[in-house]
Amino acid sequence: DIGNSPSARDIESIIHPYTNLDVHRTKGPMIIDRGKGVMVWDDEGNEYIEGMAGLWCASFGFGEEALIDAAVEQMRKLPFYHQFGHKSSMPSIELAEKLLAIAPKGMSKVFFANSGSEANDSQVKLQWYVNNALGRPEKKKILSRIKGYHGVTIASASLTGLPANHAEFDLPIANIGHVDMAYPYRGMEPGETEEEYSTRLAELLEQRILEEGPETVAAFIAEPVCGAGGVLVPPAGYFPKIQAVLKKYDIMMIADEVICGFGRTGNMWGCETYDIEPDSVSCAKQLSSAYLPISGVMVNDRIHDAMIEQSKKIGTFAHGFTYSAHPVCAAVAVRTLELMEERRILEHVREVMPVMQRRLRKLGDHPLVGDVRGVGLVGAVELVADKATKRAFDPKKMVGANCSEFAVRHGLITRAMTDSLGFCPPLVITEAEINEMFDRFEKALDDTEHWVTK
Ligand code: PLP
Repeated sequence: DIGNSPSARDIESIIHPYTNLDVHRTKGPMIIDRGKGVMVWDDEGNEYIEGMAGLWCASFGFGEEALIDAAVEQMRKLPFYHQFGHKSSMPSIELAEKLLAIAPKGMSKVFFANSGSEANDSQVKLQWYVNNALGRPEKKKILSRIKGYHGVTIASASLTGLPANHAEFDLPIANIGHVDMAYPYRGMEPGETEEEYSTRLAELLEQRILEEGPETVAAFIAEPVCGAGGVLVPPAGYFPKIQAVLKKYDIMMIADEVICGFGRTGNMWGCETYDIEPDSVSCAKQLSSAYLPISGVMVNDRIHDAMIEQSKKIGTFAHGFTYSAHPVCAAVAVRTLELMEERRILEHVREVMPVMQRRLRKLGDHPLVGDVRGVGLVGAVELVADKATKRAFDPKKMVGANCSEFAVRHGLITRAMTDSLGFCPPLVITEAEINEMFDRFEKALDDTEHWVTK
């Protein structure tokens, strides 16, 4: 009875995030029912490799008993407490210590929130708060990058550099601006080396800072590897060159490690992989292997000292969420970080990432694949209408979305970002599973080729 099917009930009742709501009314959802390891099953029993770890987040895959136990234990002991007004709970203290022990150099304190968007919103507010505290209230602008993804709350959506997040929502808000993304495939000029491209981007950034007035620019935010914008890996020398410019004008570097953090690029942080020395760091997603929502903003002493000074002057730091450092989420995050060590996840990632990158690179031989990029256990292929000229497909054809549909038919969940298809499997994926993932994707690519040429 379609009238009462789960799909019909979904259509009747739910507004889906990041979904074409009109198409959804006829298509309905794919209903995922259960998961184990890197596999998930839909409500009809079809099996899929979760090639995106959900949304770049389920690092331990599905059904990890150690994380389930951590949640249940904490739920029984203290299912909720908050952090307002000098209160705390043990899981948050343990988590803060563990996190700061592995944090990028210089991070000394952490503020907890519930999502990547909340973390980045907090980053914006912290910049404003701290620059007031430092007696330079005119230093308020935050520069982000076109195609960068930082979330969807008002400030975070403003940081996000994708048109769909701005146009119909009256965003970005004031004091947030965008500079060019580092996108070697489409950004490099003929004959230019990666280093030269990086130098040019740093010069463009400096030019922009001078146009804005360096005394008005507080911070620059970037993902070490831009994820949702299409898995854009920075060219050689990019971040050191960018940071030299930032340092020159006393502009802080905010690293959005929401995707890269906790092993994704083969190091604990994308900051390590790309020589970033951040003043503050946002993390979320893999912090709890996505089993429960939790995020953090880590800051250095300079930021924290300014916050203390401001409290001396005006009292309460008036920011924070009911669920900041929710004890059950924090307990699961603590266990996640423990498991990373116990199971030597970084070593595992380094062992299997060459297989992932090799299989990814091999896709470059396919007639539809214009660009292949990736690092560690994240990557993407960009499909193009003409490899020689890099001409993109007509967006109306929805080639990426269709390729992702073909992948589903072959038992693989990937993510279409326009015509780039992303791979970001659970970090626990085995070599055999990586090979299976790409075997399935190759079939989907062939189907896509038949479909576009027919
Ligand atoms: N920052 C980055 C780099 C992300 O990839 C995302 C989500 O994909 C966010 C922030 C926003 O996180 P959330 O969806 O948890 O609000």
